[in-house]
Amino acid sequence: MWRSSARRCARSPLWADPARTASELAARSKADADAFPKFDAKVRAVASFLAHVAATTPPDVGSPTFADSIRGLRLARAFRGLGDRGQTREAIRILPMAVADLVGDAFETDALRGAIAVRGIRYAAMGPWSAGTAANLLFDSAGNDGGAAGETAFARGGSVTVGRALADAARTFGAEIRCGATVERVTVAGGRVTGVVIAGGEELAAPIVVSGVDPKRVLLGMVDPVALGPTLVWRAGNLRMPGVVARVELTLDALPVFPGPDEERLRGRIVMAPGIDDLERAFDASKYGRVSDEPFLEATIPSLADPKVAPEGGHRMLVLAQFAPYRLREGDWDAERDRLGDRVLARLERFAPGLTARVIRRNVLTPPDLERDYGLTEGHPMHGEHGLDQLFAWRPLFGHARYRLPVEGLFLCGSGAHPGGGVTGRPGANAAREILRRRAR
Ligand SMILES: Cc1cc2nc3c(=O)[nH]c(=O)nc-3n(C[C@H](O)[C@H](O)[C@H](O)COP(=O)(O)OP(=O)(O)OC[C@H]3O[C@@H](n4cnc5c(N)ncnc54)[C@H](O)[C@@H]3O)c2cc1C
Repeated sequence: MWRSSARRCARSPLWADPARTASELAARSKADADAFPKFDAKVRAVASFLAHVAATTPPDVGSPTFADSIRGLRLARAFRGLGDRGQTREAIRILPMAVADLVGDAFETDALRGAIAVRGIRYAAMGPWSAGTAANLLFDSAGNDGGAAGETAFARGGSVTVGRALADAARTFGAEIRCGATVERVTVAGGRVTGVVIAGGEELAAPIVVSGVDPKRVLLGMVDPVALGPTLVWRAGNLRMPGVVARVELTLDALPVFPGPDEERLRGRIVMAPGIDDLERAFDASKYGRVSDEPFLEATIPSLADPKVAPEGGHRMLVLAQFAPYRLREGDWDAERDRLGDRVLARLERFAPGLTARVIRRNVLTPPDLERDYGLTEGHPMHGEHGLDQLFAWRPLFGHARYRLPVEGLFLCGSGAHPGGGVTGRPGANAAREILRRRAR
C-alpha cells in the first residue's frame, strides 16, 4: 500500500500533518494557516466518534433489545469522549450542516474551502450547499488518519490486488469462489431463503444468502415481489441512487505537468475545484439532467506509486468527473460519452497545459457504463446515496438496517448497508458479525 494525503486545488496543498498544511497555507493566508490546525482537530475528534458509529450495528428502533441498549451506552461513552460540552454541542451542530457552511465558518480562501468541501460531495448527487454534506466529509475521515485533508492509499498492482488478497484469505477459510457467475434469482420458500439461481439455470441451495449487490438490485431484481409484499417493493423502488459520477481513464506517454506542485504533491488526490460556487454550479447542471460544462475533477496518478500499472515510461491517470447524471434530459449517453471525455480533457488542460498531447489512450465510463460493467444500479458507486435519510438506521431501509433483508436468511454485506460505501470493509465486517450472532442462536 502506498499512502499520501497530498491534495491540491489552485495550489492549496493539504497534508495529513496539519502543521505542514498550516505552514504551506501561510504563504497565501495567515488567517487560514492559523485556522487549519483547529479545524483539523475538530474533524479528527468528530471522525473518531463516527468510527465507533461505523463499527456499530444500527439499533432495532422499533423494538430495541438489551444488546441495542449496550451498544447505545458504548456510543454515548464514545460521544462523551469528545470532551467538554462545547465539543459535543459542536459535533451535533455540524453533522447535518452543508459542507459549504462548515468550511465557510473556518476559512477565508475560496480555493481552500473548495478543496476540503469536495470530500462532502464526492460520489453524491449533492452540491456543497446541500444539507448533510458535512456528515459525508466527517464519515470519510472516520477510520483513517487523514484528518481534514483525507487520506489516499494505492494498492501496488492496482485495486484488483485488494480483491485478490481478500479472495485468497477467504479460500484459506474454505471458501469456494466462482467468478463470472451472475446471480439471477434468490429463491425463497415459506418466507425463507433457499438459495440462488445463477445464469444458465444452475441452482445453488443455501440456508443463508449474503448479497454484496446493491439493495435495489437484489430486492427488485432478484427476489420474487410476492415474497416481499407491495409495501417493501414500493419502498425499495424509492431507494435513492442517483449516479452522477463519470470516470475518465487516461494512459499518458509522460507525467503531466501541473505548474507549481512537485512530484510528491502529484502522488495524492489532485482536486480541480476552484471554489464553492464552481462546485455548486457543477452540481446545478445535474439537477436539470445536464452534464456540467465545468465538472469538478479529482485525479490520481497511481503509476507514481507503482510504475507497473502503466506502459514503460508512461503514466496512468484516473479522473473522477462530477456531475454527469445517469438520466439525461436531452440526448443519450452513447452520443454524450465522447463529448464528456473532450470536456474533461479541456478542463484538465487548463490545470495541466499540454496534457492532451500526452494522451495515448482514453476510456470514458459514464454512469450507465458503471451500471453495465460493475452492476451498480444507476451507476451509483456507493450502492445508494449517502444522504441523511439513507444513513445509519435508514440504510438501506428503516427497519432493515441490521444487515438482514426482509426475507429470513437473506443478508446485505455491501455498501448499501451501514456505514455505506468506500473501500473500508466496514459493512462486510458488521454483516459477518450479525450473521455469526444469528447462527449462534
Ligand atoms: C469510478 C469509481 C471510483 C471510485 N474511487 C474510490 C476511491 O478512490 N476510494 C474509495 O474508497 N472508493 C472508491 N469508489 C467506491 C468503491 O469502489 C465502492 O464503495 C466499493 O467498491 C464498494 O464495494 P462493495 O463490495 O460494497 O460493492 P462493489 O465493489 O460494487 O461490488 C459488488 C459486486 O457485485 C457484483 N454483482 C453485481 N450484480 C451481480 C449479480 N447479479 N451476480 C453476481 N455478482 C454481481 C459486481 O460485479 C461487483 O463485483 C469508487 C467507485 C467508482 C465507481
